[in-house]
Amino acid sequence: MPSLGRLLIIGYPLGHTLSPLMHNTAIGELGLPYHYEAEAVPPDGLAEALERFRVDEVVGFSVTIPHKETILPLLDVVDEETERLGAANTVVLAEGRFVGTNTDGVGFLRSLTEDGSYDPEGRAAVVLGAGGAARAVAAHLALAGASSVVIANRTLSRAERLADDLARALGRQCFLPLPLEATATADAIQQAECLINTTSVGMAGDPRLPVPAAWIEPHLMVCDIVYRPLETPLLEAARARGASTLDGLGMLIYQGAEAFRRWTGHEMPVGIVRMRLEEALAREEAEHS
Ligand code: NAP
Repeated sequence: MPSLGRLLIIGYPLGHTLSPLMHNTAIGELGLPYHYEAEAVPPDGLAEALERFRVDEVVGFSVTIPHKETILPLLDVVDEETERLGAANTVVLAEGRFVGTNTDGVGFLRSLTEDGSYDPEGRAAVVLGAGGAARAVAAHLALAGASSVVIANRTLSRAERLADDLARALGRQCFLPLPLEATATADAIQQAECLINTTSVGMAGDPRLPVPAAWIEPHLMVCDIVYRPLETPLLEAARARGASTLDGLGMLIYQGAEAFRRWTGHEMPVGIVRMRLEEALAREEAEHS
């Protein structure tokens, strides 16, 4: 039997990643000759792991914390947008060369437009958080023509740095950094049409909201990119206050679908993948309740 093409996710520590289930479901549905597995790679083992992957002729791999930024100088080719954003989440081995790209922003935007039926063009958005995910989300809102993108973060200096970086990288002056808990952020949310949480507040077992529920009004589209749990405290509050909501599973699936297409040349069957991931998340929640 011919050997299967190897696909991987690398990170450290890897925790309980949904990526193998996502990609192996797609591979199984399409009957493709690949297998996707998780490999814990510590920060000081990254260069050695890449050389091993080159010799083993892996087809490609996903990159997660803490390697998204540090992997860039180790790659042979990095596409322009990934270079500008300074972080890669997907690598393809093409003719012996590692090619890095970032599919997080594309994944978020596809989820927002397809699942959320929301077009950000010409509309104001507020992004909560200034980490790696915020970078991709804020950039893609701007690339999609958002009129303004407020970046509100607990550590203001990080929001300022991100706003500066993005303004320079994209040549747009639409980014405004604010402290997360400021009245100015409450005002910005009131004037915006879309609010996106990219902080880790509200992750499994954390009952907190990143901003007070009273700041959420019914006209808003409220997105949370956290997907454990699917209904975060923020989304629960937003729903109760009459706002539209979008969970983080769509972003996870669509960033994966974009990577899958680059590795295999096939479209991921996203409907069945979503069903399997929802079942797995429901099982996890039942085990922990
Ligand atoms: P990161 O780079 O570590 O950034 C974390 C962000 O959360 C920072 O802005 C941090 O603020 C903020 N934060 C953490 N604790 C906080 C608190 N107690 N109060 C207020 N703000 C707090 O992480 P990341 O890679 O951007 O990921 C962020 C979240 O997005 C994670 O939950 C991750 O699972 C999720 N995510 C989802 C997808 C998806 O496909 N759905 C993709 C990527 C990430 P400071 O700067 O002040 O520390």
